[in-house]
Amino acid sequence: MSLPTIDTNHFTKFLVDLLNIASPTGFAGPAIDFVEKELSQFKQLELSRTRKGALVAKWTVENDLPPVALTAHVDTLGAVVKEIKSNGRLKLSRIGGIQWNTVETEGIWVFASKGEKIRGSVLIDTASGHVHGAAGSETKRNDEHMEVRLDARTTSEKETRALGINIGDCVSFDPRVEVTHGFIRSRFLDDKACVANIVAAIKSLTDANQSPARTVYFHISNYEEVGHGAAAGTPPEVAELVTVDMAVVGAGQASDEFNATLCIKDGGGPYHFGLNNKMRVLAEKHNIPYKTDVYIYYGSDGEAFWSAGGDVALALIGPGIDASHNYERAHMDGLNATTNWILAYLLSD
Ligand SMILES: [Zn+2]
Repeated sequence: MSLPTIDTNHFTKFLVDLLNIASPTGFAGPAIDFVEKELSQFKQLELSRTRKGALVAKWTVENDLPPVALTAHVDTLGAVVKEIKSNGRLKLSRIGGIQWNTVETEGIWVFASKGEKIRGSVLIDTASGHVHGAAGSETKRNDEHMEVRLDARTTSEKETRALGINIGDCVSFDPRVEVTHGFIRSRFLDDKACVANIVAAIKSLTDANQSPARTVYFHISNYEEVGHGAAAGTPPEVAELVTVDMAVVGAGQASDEFNATLCIKDGGGPYHFGLNNKMRVLAEKHNIPYKTDVYIYYGSDGEAFWSAGGDVALALIGPGIDASHNYERAHMDGLNATTNWILAYLLSD
């Protein structure tokens, strides 16, 4: 049986729109809303939110097979305002360990707690070449030396506070989305690409008038980048959980941007042998280009569920993402391979 067709134009548009919605962990509500609105057009899905704010979509199929689940996350790296400096600039506290060198000179938004959005950019505190000369490149890129310059007239803490900015306000970094020759380049393809894969698979099945082989829960999580995203929210009757998250691309890794990857082991240990083998058999049966790989500096939402006591068979698949947690890039080949793998899984019993 061949897999239903993927609407790649729709996939790309949905992904680009999602990438352009700021959603640092702790402030992912607007991205969850956007995914919920998209999924609400599929009338067979029953949508709900967990108390933590994750989105769960249930596709019920009438049979006696135990249900399965897939998860991906919309939250991203980001920051909050840690301190307002005496010169009116901001110090930040990072969310999810974004590395300062990757966002130096990046545009940002401060989401002031009273509702206003204030524009600015991230700079080192020795930014001007004409003032600091070579010292600027030697300054350590760390919490102490990186600051936000607001696009507002302020040179004091008082003036910055008068803009409505408070300690703890959320800060997002511009995604810089660009689609070129089959590549999609953007921050935070981790893990919005995989949310788009799941949505594309649901659309593809619906368009083809097909249903999954058994009841499925789709869990769109909102706290992954800090480690506990999908720890709760998957019901105990679920037998298998497939985490869909980026594959690691770079020196020493088997993954690349043109394949999907099955992760056998990451920083949290090995995944489930039986479900891994099921995923391999499905990939081979449907000629889905895939690699197997091991990720060193990596943990997943599926492991968060395991750590919280979840009793499921667990696997991790996803498209290769170059320069992850930096200026990321994916290719349509790896993205389509991932959607097809999800489709193959959904149609298998
Ligand atoms: Zn991720």
